[in-house]
Amino acid sequence: MNEDLRIFAQYIAPALNIRYRFVGEEPTDYITNQYNTAMKKILPNIAGIQVIEIPRLETGGKVISATAVRECYKNKDFSAMSDLVSQITLDHDRNKKQLGSVPIVQPGEWKHYQDSKIVICVKNSFHEVYNELIHKYQCKKENIMSSHEWICGLLKEGKIKLRPRAVSLEACTLCQLDCPYCYMRTGDFGTMGKGYLKYEDFQDFVEKNPYINRIEISNNGEVFLNPDLGKILLLANEKNVKIQIGSGTNFNTVSDEILELLVKTQVSFITVAIDGASQEIYSIYRRKGDFDKVISNIKKLNEHKKKYNSKYPILQWQYILMPHNECDVEKASIMAKELGMNIFYKYECVQGKFDPQDRSKLERITGLKYFSLEEYNAHHDRVYGSEFCYETIFSPRINFDGRLLGCCMIWNEDFGINVFEEGLVSALNSERYLKMIQLLLGIERSREQLGDIPCFHCGQCGRSIENQDFLYL
Ligand code: SF4
Ligand code: SF4
Repeated sequence: MNEDLRIFAQYIAPALNIRYRFVGEEPTDYITNQYNTAMKKILPNIAGIQVIEIPRLETGGKVISATAVRECYKNKDFSAMSDLVSQITLDHDRNKKQLGSVPIVQPGEWKHYQDSKIVICVKNSFHEVYNELIHKYQCKKENIMSSHEWICGLLKEGKIKLRPRAVSLEACTLCQLDCPYCYMRTGDFGTMGKGYLKYEDFQDFVEKNPYINRIEISNNGEVFLNPDLGKILLLANEKNVKIQIGSGTNFNTVSDEILELLVKTQVSFITVAIDGASQEIYSIYRRKGDFDKVISNIKKLNEHKKKYNSKYPILQWQYILMPHNECDVEKASIMAKELGMNIFYKYECVQGKFDPQDRSKLERITGLKYFSLEEYNAHHDRVYGSEFCYETIFSPRINFDGRLLGCCMIWNEDFGINVFEEGLVSALNSERYLKMIQLLLGIERSREQLGDIPCFHCGQCGRSIENQDFLYL
């Protein structure tokens, strides 16, 4: 297991410039769970790769997984299985012979299954399995579906509900800096408004949703300006809810008490936005920011990590590539290493242009091939940042006052529903929110049926219905 991860970290990840590894949460299968645990332990440390565990969809308090279905099948517990699979699959499984997870169906027997639908739950070898079913077993094309189609069908029929294990709950929309392209500040805080998450609301939310085990608290402002942050961190720790500050902080204003609490309460990771390696360059974009203060706060945090012998929070240095800060890229990468931080680079998305003066040097330092939004989009089928859309399903964004936003791109409108008042599951399964999910998954494609949903106004990474650019589960 460790050797496998070492090879991935040493050879595969650098060659493909992999910074994140997404895995499905595995609460039922011991070996897969161990592998996930090893990944989370090893990859951030030896290669600075962030492992993001995506919570499973659940129904009736049970996670939907192939392992859970196999276990039910092994025990012939079709009643428990009925919560996890569709009726058609259930009927099929009740009758079939099975070797592992592959049904053995002799061509002569196939007539019994001709009207059954078959769900292929593997993604990598989907076509292999599909062809086998068509050619060897003469299955009808229309009877075969992918797990994606199956889940979409269940969602459409209302047989399962969105109930993620993670959310993003904005701690604070206020900020002391004045970055020129910050849409919250240039757009007068959109409809999100100015404010911060109150401890009482956080407490109420955590108590009412005990299945939530991870909360991202940064979004469109500066987390550390929330005066209730200390109490929020302590409560999350007490309730075993992992806190992360992954969307970013400018880290200019953090008290010593909070720095220590970040370690004591085991915040998972923090992304610090530093677009330069000196005050002169840093403050061109992070206007009103104090570079030395940021570095000093990182050093203090590292002291606390040492004192408590803790790996957490894992620290990431986010560097937005812009023409004025090309000169500091190398120095920043060296500083990040010295500070025990993984540095990663982002494209500036408002101007969207950057043509480096020394491309080969920048390629060598950053490991990137493209350096701007414009370049990236010209070479990829999907636009930069299109993975944000997954947040709507796996970690939906909520404003500090409870209003449901969906994803990090939605700041100038909302769904007109309040999670603190309506409840999380009810808000996520409300009509308009589900319409958006149906659009993103390609379930509903008629604009008339979908009505007015935020994705149609998403300037940066709206998924295109025309190009059939949908999320794949
Ligand atoms: S630090 Fe972030 S939130 Fe603050 S002004 Fe800059 S971009 Fe906006
Ligand atoms: S299309 Fe835009 S608004 Fe819709 S989920 Fe994706 S990022 Fe968010």
